[in-house]
Amino acid sequence: MSATGSLPSEPERLDVIAVAPHPDDVEILCGGTLAKLVLLGYQVGIFDLTNGEPTPRGSVEKRLAEAEQARRILGVQVRKNIDLPNRVLMDCPENRFRLATEFRRYRPGIILVAYGRTPAASPDHYQGQLIAEAARFYSQLTRWDDRFGHTAPYRIPHLVYVPFPFDAENRHWHSQFVIDITDTIEQKLAAIRVYESQFDASRFQRVEHMIRSVNGYHGARCGFHYGELFALPAPVGATDLVQLVHGSKGSLAPVQLPGKDHLPTG
Ligand SMILES: [Zn+2]
Repeated sequence: MSATGSLPSEPERLDVIAVAPHPDDVEILCGGTLAKLVLLGYQVGIFDLTNGEPTPRGSVEKRLAEAEQARRILGVQVRKNIDLPNRVLMDCPENRFRLATEFRRYRPGIILVAYGRTPAASPDHYQGQLIAEAARFYSQLTRWDDRFGHTAPYRIPHLVYVPFPFDAENRHWHSQFVIDITDTIEQKLAAIRVYESQFDASRFQRVEHMIRSVNGYHGARCGFHYGELFALPAPVGATDLVQLVHGSKGSLAPVQLPGKDHLPTG
């Protein structure tokens, strides 16, 4: 187990852990939301399943240093590398045990899991989703502590998906939501930019264009400049419709369509 960014004052448990196969996945998928969670006072972790290497211009040391720099930019308290193999990442019991052991150590309230099949990109992405889903289930199992370094069973209350923007599937989610990242989009882009081993200047330009487009689109759907999309494996349950729709901070934003002023009003 190697650890990037394990601080001396590392928190005992984490409110939110984001899980994805490669250092830079989480930044691209939900870096704005992670930075925002930290600003709101939550304890946040990133678990990279692999070190992401080899890549054409990277090295293990360089990639770990980039991941640590990105962690600092986002303000995230903990970043762990689970040290599973890149490029040949597969969902299997041993890999589930490794991740579940870390879940049992950090006992998160929510895990954010990179979601979807990406046939034009690494097959690790889909396998990572399967490992994380299974590890969440394994985390709660009793009478199996020897498989998890003798950590105590822990049930993770919530699983939230973070879909890859280039996912192949036509998804019909039970429920989706968008987090406003207007105030953290630049932090997100700065955290991605540190991955010089992955993005030279022209490649970063393309990635930035993709991120501003995707996050601009999802944000616009909810009246924000920029937003990140999340999905749930089940419908949202609520007992108070008004509280759900307005939100505790008054923030299910009304949709602001461009040119709305020119639309006929009732
Ligand atoms: Zn990736």
